Amino acid sequence: MTSSCKVQTSQIVLATKNLGKLAEFTALFRDHGLDIKIEGTPRGLELPNETGMSYRENASLKAEWVGQRLQATSLADDSGLEVQALSGAPGLHSARFGGPKLSDPERVQLLLEALRGVHAERRRARFVCCLALFLPSTGSTITSEGFIEGRILEESRGQGGFGYDPVFFVPLLGKTLAEICPEEKNKFSHRAKALERLLAGLKGPGE
Ligand code: IMP
Repeated sequence: MTSSCKVQTSQIVLATKNLGKLAEFTALFRDHGLDIKIEGTPRGLELPNETGMSYRENASLKAEWVGQRLQATSLADDSGLEVQALSGAPGLHSARFGGPKLSDPERVQLLLEALRGVHAERRRARFVCCLALFLPSTGSTITSEGFIEGRILEESRGQGGFGYDPVFFVPLLGKTLAEICPEEKNKFSHRAKALERLLAGLKGPGE
């Protein structure tokens, strides 16, 4: 990636079909000053089902699937929202909470219903992201995790973001993730933190 990284690659294939993630990771790599081309999974290659029992398993499954088939360095993520009062749900099932047909705002409403009457203290929540990077030269996969801590509000605030952003309040900012711009979110998001840790792990000792 750069001369200070153990991994030398000028291109990473992202194991996703989601154009939003492609744009977000492109910006995150640029913020790290890495001159690296980020590409999406090609049209003809379907992604595997997320059958893992953890974020790490799902991210590794996707990165290895794409990386092994294309013999390319491949990066995948898996993420979710964990709410204290719901014993960590929706967690791994965040994208399908309430069923696959719901829209993001409908999923948010379902979450608010599930938390109706729950005191602010127990509305604590965190976003989790696990990243997996498959390296074709060694056939190995490196993983990392990142988190953001917050609290689920009683109603939506803000027009930006996606998913559960409008109800995810970050005390340090005094705002929800839907009230900040993508550039600001990229400075401390769970994905940004996971990438920071992944890159730190790729750097040689003392670099
Ligand atoms: P996946 O990582 O693509 O499987 O998505 C996990 C799900 O978690 C998404 O569909 C969203 O519902 C939720 N999620 C993950 N990250 C975020 C975020 O940054 N904001 C809002 N929702 C998120």
